[in-house]
Amino acid sequence: MSGSKSTVFRSHVYLILIDSEFLRIILYDHSAIVESGLLDLKQAGDRLNFAKMVKRLRSMSSEEHGFVRGLHADSILKNPKSLIEKENPHTKKGELPSSRIYELQDGSHFTFPYEYTPGQQGQTRTVYLKRVIFRSNGVIGRGTTVAEVECACDCNPFCRVGCDWKGKKLILKLSFPSITRDSEESYLNRCKELATGDHAWVLNHLPKIYCAFDIPFPHDSPQQKLSDRFGNSYQMRVTRGTIQEELKPLSSLATAKECAQVFYDVVQCHHWVWKYPKILHRDISQGNIMVREINGVKYGVLNDWDLATSVDKLYEGPASQFRTGTKPYMAHEQQDPDWTGPHRYRHDLESVFYVMTLFTFLYSSPSSKPSDPLDRKYHFETWHQENDATLGTIKFKLIGVSIWDPPATDFFIGFKQWLTRFHVCFYRGFQNQHNFRLDQIRDPMLEIWSKPQPQPQIQQMQSFNEETLGGFITVEYIVLIMHEFGGEELDTRGAEWQGLLRGLLGLSPAAA
Ligand SMILES: [Zn+2]
Repeated sequence: MSGSKSTVFRSHVYLILIDSEFLRIILYDHSAIVESGLLDLKQAGDRLNFAKMVKRLRSMSSEEHGFVRGLHADSILKNPKSLIEKENPHTKKGELPSSRIYELQDGSHFTFPYEYTPGQQGQTRTVYLKRVIFRSNGVIGRGTTVAEVECACDCNPFCRVGCDWKGKKLILKLSFPSITRDSEESYLNRCKELATGDHAWVLNHLPKIYCAFDIPFPHDSPQQKLSDRFGNSYQMRVTRGTIQEELKPLSSLATAKECAQVFYDVVQCHHWVWKYPKILHRDISQGNIMVREINGVKYGVLNDWDLATSVDKLYEGPASQFRTGTKPYMAHEQQDPDWTGPHRYRHDLESVFYVMTLFTFLYSSPSSKPSDPLDRKYHFETWHQENDATLGTIKFKLIGVSIWDPPATDFFIGFKQWLTRFHVCFYRGFQNQHNFRLDQIRDPMLEIWSKPQPQPQIQQMQSFNEETLGGFITVEYIVLIMHEFGGEELDTRGAEWQGLLRGLLGLSPAAA
């Protein structure tokens, strides 16, 4: 089901499973999978019920079938095969559907709520759908779909006086978040309010949203009925959309230094958003690191703030809520089944470390993957298929090895130094955490045994700073590692980090 192309732009889907004379109807939506009772076609009553179900399914509107309201893509409805998978030389056997590109037939369009005049309800705007460039894997979850779109000026009366999206490259992002989740737009608005004066630089590194809308499920939708029936145990969702500026992927970059600058930019932006508007991103992945070009200068953009949260809400909610991210890049602690949160700033930095490790190993240049990475020593390609428990163990071992030789390809050889230094910070930090925890075990036998031993400094620690792993994951280390690449200075964007860097280099000339 999740592999079917026709599931893009869908809030739910019905499926009928038939095994000889038995059958079930199954409803999949983004929160639950609901099975009907077993029908036995040998029984007249069940046969009648089945006939009624089929009749009902046939009479449903496209919205009742699960297509998002406002979607006009008849070709997908009538023939899912009309959603054409674009020829992509990088698509490999077994690659997940999310990384494939699907072309939509000409004329496919989408109409959504849009306020031309602020405060005035009931107005709409239409865009033409061009191609699907990203879609989530799996059934349960936000089910994010990203498509390239353009303003359908001929359908929008107000475009006749002048279209404000003319010449802009646009994308439509649709997802089905929990109805209580703050929107990406609300987080970005908080950033915008504070990004003035010395802080204005950060806007170059944040996505630009042109409009945002929510479409609630109607009262007769399966979602509303499940919510009425199961209350809080059913996660009620909303269809949420945004029209955003189209950004370029990492594959658009030409040199290793450009990649390094983009990673450095994203880390600076991430820190600013955590420190000032106090929002933590929580989903750093290769796909969320994008590029914007302004007057020939390329800027790293930290994209997709859908899973972000306010720092003051980090400790609220069940542990399952802390476990956010994209599996290959999640911090290893989060993938331990016993982990209970909270999601910390340093967990996102660990994600940056994995993004850089995978990217500089799996790619022989930003736009090309080696044809057969599986014959190499490290099987990072499989990270995209592994489950949490396995990935947690693999990453734990990677961080726990005292001397690590980053497997960067020749093109990305300059990243070896960065990755080695990042690794040392995490290695030392977790060793430190480990030693501190050992020291908390008050076993008289161990204390007698340890008495004649010299007391290492670590044992005098009264508390351990989990946020910085005892001082090893700090902005000071990050700026020292990332401000230069291969002996060349990179752009440190904000005045705060520029000052920090000057201070650090002044205090320790050896680091310069
Ligand atoms: Zn227009």
